[in-house]
Amino acid sequence: MQTKITLDESEIPTHWYNVVADMPNPPSPPLGPDGKPIGPEALAGIFPMGLIEQEVSAERWIPIPERVREALSMWRPSPLYRAHRLEAALGTPAKIYYKNESVSPAGSHKVNTAVAQAYYNQQAGIKRLATETGAGQWGSSIALAGQMFGLEVRIFMVRVSYDQKPFRRSMMQTWGGQVFASPSNETQTGRAILAKDPNNPGSLGIAISEAVEEAASRADTNYALGSVLNHVLLHQTIIGLEAKKQFAKVGDYPDMVFAPCGGGSNFGGAAFPFFADKASGKRVRLVAVEPTSCPTLTKGEYAYDFGDTAGLTPLMKMYTLGHDFMPPGIHAGGLRYHGDSPLVSQLYHEGLIEALAVPQIATFEAGVMFARSEGIIPAPESNHAIRACIDEALRCKESGEAKTLFFNLSGHGHFDMAAYDKYLAGELTDFYYPEAEIKASLAGSPKVG
Ligand SMILES: *Cc1c(COP(=O)(O)O)cnc(C)c1O
Repeated sequence: MQTKITLDESEIPTHWYNVVADMPNPPSPPLGPDGKPIGPEALAGIFPMGLIEQEVSAERWIPIPERVREALSMWRPSPLYRAHRLEAALGTPAKIYYKNESVSPAGSHKVNTAVAQAYYNQQAGIKRLATETGAGQWGSSIALAGQMFGLEVRIFMVRVSYDQKPFRRSMMQTWGGQVFASPSNETQTGRAILAKDPNNPGSLGIAISEAVEEAASRADTNYALGSVLNHVLLHQTIIGLEAKKQFAKVGDYPDMVFAPCGGGSNFGGAAFPFFADKASGKRVRLVAVEPTSCPTLTKGEYAYDFGDTAGLTPLMKMYTLGHDFMPPGIHAGGLRYHGDSPLVSQLYHEGLIEALAVPQIATFEAGVMFARSEGIIPAPESNHAIRACIDEALRCKESGEAKTLFFNLSGHGHFDMAAYDKYLAGELTDFYYPEAEIKASLAGSPKVG
């Protein structure tokens, strides 16, 4: 009974997989303020050319630079686990596997793209990176990556998380990052919002506006985004590529792949390499799992919208709840984003992947069950995938089917214990974002496409 399926460092993939090559239709282009498609040069003010080329590439395989592979080797390849104890606790005939992305120094999958982004910016002569962070996983990942590649990192952290998760801030500062509670006094966007509402709890959309404003106004500073964009999902495909090698080692293959979905990066990373097989005829179901409180794919509209609150970013065609959507302060902070990856959105729109939404209390119930059987305490975001996977395993128990289920354990929950405390004390609540409020927020969105 093998529990950990591991790979040698030499088996770290040499190329990232670009799903665009296998999509039936080309991705919808980002649009500028005039409603016309923007070219790569429009992004050159805030991103290095190496990343812009990846953003617009249709090549199936993109080489991973040797220095990035070296950096990744600090924690990769990550182990694939067979969840024998969880299977036994559920009494299911299903086989459950999970990829453990919590083994990175920052404790989540986000460092996979952070080191690649820091590398390309350093190569382009950039000295500073400005970025946003929600729950702090992205901020800590990019602070670490900046340290590894000699870049100064300035992080706008959503205020509600800044207050709820002081130790994430300490992590970023330990790795040399500078952290500001957003909305902040550092930018025009932040000052304008604070003037109207000094107690604004912040949102990812606002923090993105602040970071983009800073990057656009300084030549030595670029912007870094931890999810949503094509190049970020590309870097995360290392997860699914390793997983495929690991499944091959034990002669198994998933019937279903689950991953939590905020901006879509760990879902894309875990699922897209399996999409390549699906595109060539293999049967595999790919399921993005989101919170009922921020139900972007399942309740949003597929339309062009801004990536941020102030409307500074290009318009992207994606599932959106409206760029001024104000998500409730749920504990899976990494899943509180109004939009979603355009690649994930398009595949969902075309019926090639699936999505479902799960309520908060049920996700913690699943996370605690997982911790009590597998030992690892998962991030609240990861609990969404665990919930969906457990539900499928329980359906298998009813039907007697021995499906092979795979989920991405996107991170650990060691800095989220206040949320577990609330769950254990029975103080968590469920929230289903009301359709009327989604409609009202969407009414403020630009009407293109
Ligand atoms: C950020 C984060 C997520 C959600 O972001 P995606 O881009 O959708 O992957 C999920 N899990 C963890 C642990 C995270 O840090």
